Amino acid sequence: MAYVNGRKRIVILGGGCGGVVAATKLGRKLGADHDVILIDRRPNHIFMPAFLFVMVGQRQPWDISRSLSVLQKRNVKVTQSEILGIDPLRQEVALQKEKINYDHLIVSLGLQTRPDLVPGFAEASIHPWEMESAVRLRDTLANFRSGRIVVGVPLGPYRCPPAPYETQWMLDGYFRQRGVRDRVEIEYFTRDPEPAGEAHDPVVWMDAESRRRNIKQNYEFVVRAIDPEKKEVLGLYNYKLRYDLLVMVPPHRPAQVLLDSGLADTETGIRVDYDTLRTKWDNVYAIGDCADMPASKAGGVAHQEADVLAHNLAVEITGKGRPVDLWLHTI
Ligand SMILES: Cc1cc2nc3c(=O)[nH]c(=O)nc-3n(C[C@H](O)[C@H](O)[C@H](O)COP(=O)(O)OP(=O)(O)OC[C@H]3O[C@@H](n4cnc5c(N)ncnc54)[C@H](O)[C@@H]3O)c2cc1C
Repeated sequence: MAYVNGRKRIVILGGGCGGVVAATKLGRKLGADHDVILIDRRPNHIFMPAFLFVMVGQRQPWDISRSLSVLQKRNVKVTQSEILGIDPLRQEVALQKEKINYDHLIVSLGLQTRPDLVPGFAEASIHPWEMESAVRLRDTLANFRSGRIVVGVPLGPYRCPPAPYETQWMLDGYFRQRGVRDRVEIEYFTRDPEPAGEAHDPVVWMDAESRRRNIKQNYEFVVRAIDPEKKEVLGLYNYKLRYDLLVMVPPHRPAQVLLDSGLADTETGIRVDYDTLRTKWDNVYAIGDCADMPASKAGGVAHQEADVLAHNLAVEITGKGRPVDLWLHTI
């Protein structure tokens, strides 16, 4: 087993928003009495919400990355490795060079982008949903002086549902600042129906804000493919949208290792108990974008879940304090 003399080993998979918060809190609460280990393929935490600022040149990639090694100061051991497999029956995780056991496993592996799910996407869309593509978009925008930019979303889950609206508005502001907004058309498409309801409803408000900025909104537009030659987005029922620059969000799916290990049950992730974030496997929890929760795939959600789970796990391990309930604030 992973522990000797009551010492527990808590393994956290993923050093994104959820993983970093869970590790920080557990490291602080458990101190040197237990082992908290965080594993990520990258040496750095990358703050993805700031990709939009990279897109418009207000941040550089290094401004939004921090070394995960700083967690060592909080009693967290950081291991950089690809996670190749998870065996919840043996309580074991396979890394590139070793296998490690755990007493408690927190899975916060986010979602992976899957450009291959929309034919033509990889050749056509330059988007701020990954660092490399956000930098490419910044460079493309710098040379874009007139034409039609189409922003849009795919079917299925994706990181941060409001971010495609923020993308439109930041593009609007960017071209206004450059004094060429009247030569740049911006359009948006979404698979969702036209929002209806009270003006303060977030989706109604976001829709109104886009129109106020003279951004045309296309609803119930379901993408089937993209034709990069003709520069057309091809939707169901023969609807088409022409573009000069396509800024479409890539399709997202659970991390490959979760699919291969059979942990992800659905297109949106690992089924969890909505109150405790426990999975159907003993001592395995899922948080953040990889958890199939009735909540946005958002860093704010991952943070709240990590905070509550780390607290409750520390209470369970140390026997000190009281568990708290999960109250999610999400749109
Ligand atoms: C453009 C954009 C704007 C956004 N804006 C906001 C916003 O304003 N507010 C908000 O709350 N959220 C926002 N988000 C969403 C937010 O970034 C995510 O919801 C959040 O990062 C999810 O945290 P997570 O810990 O679940 O996963 P992630 O942050 O995705 O972390 C997963 C980690 O797992 C690692 N990993 C995955 N697979 C493996 C493997 N096999 N081996 C090793 N390591 C692996 C990855 O390297 C990564 O570090 C935005 C996202 C984007 C892209």
